Amino acid sequence: MTALGTDLGGRAGGSLPGGPPPDGSALRARLTVLSGPSGVGKGTVIAAVRRRHPQAWVSVSYTTRPPRAGEVEGVQYHFASREEFGRMVDAGGFLEWAEFAGNLYGTPRQPVLDQLARGVPAVLEIELQGARQVKKAMPGARFVLLAPPSWQELERRLVGRDTETAEAWQVRLDQARVELAAEAEFDAVIINDDVGRAADQLVELLRSPLLTREG
Ligand code: ADP
Ligand code: 5GP
Repeated sequence: MTALGTDLGGRAGGSLPGGPPPDGSALRARLTVLSGPSGVGKGTVIAAVRRRHPQAWVSVSYTTRPPRAGEVEGVQYHFASREEFGRMVDAGGFLEWAEFAGNLYGTPRQPVLDQLARGVPAVLEIELQGARQVKKAMPGARFVLLAPPSWQELERRLVGRDTETAEAWQVRLDQARVELAAEAEFDAVIINDDVGRAADQLVELLRSPLLTREG
């Protein structure tokens, strides 16, 4: 596994629209995609980043998954029926979308474009198939994989969260192996052994220019 928070290099296209934003904020007006296995702590780490940098904007996805206890429409997700989701797909309303563990998830396109046009650092928390679509659509984006300190710890977190059935854990863990095997597709890997440390490393990536492999 790659060193913590190491930038493995930007992609062709180099630096992105907007270096540091004009308001003096340290974060760059760039699209950052955070992926990683279910239960690794993506939501937890992003929440910690937003406590440090409330100006970072996090996209709210659409999903056909039913809300978990405590999830609120428009906060964690926009909850939609398959029909509503399909209409948005047909209208070209998603920047990317994918099926994951039996449910559909998608990033509404326009809010992301609006935030980037305003110079706001934007973050997507999405799974691998969606990240691959964004890589094609948004060549200036940075892709970060959040990885667990160990497989046992990933299982412990997923099961400990207690939001899925045992059957659903297995589907998510099978998918986790696929996601972790795709490490080389990402610009950087952060090991989430400690939420504060992982959040610091993500903030560092939100601040820094895209580096070349040599740089
Ligand atoms: P994801 O969004 O990747 O599915 P969550 O943010 O829901 O994952 O985290 C899954 C579980 O793991 C939660 O119960 C969360 O509190 C816990 N968790 C997240 N990061 C850590 C960490 N660094 N150490 C221990 N537990 C963590
Ligand atoms: P959960 O059901 O645990 O909230 O999310 C399951 C998976 O879907 C996670 O890996 C999460 O990152 C991913 N996900 C959430 N929103 C989106 C989205 O808009 N698009 C894609 N492709 N994946 C998403």
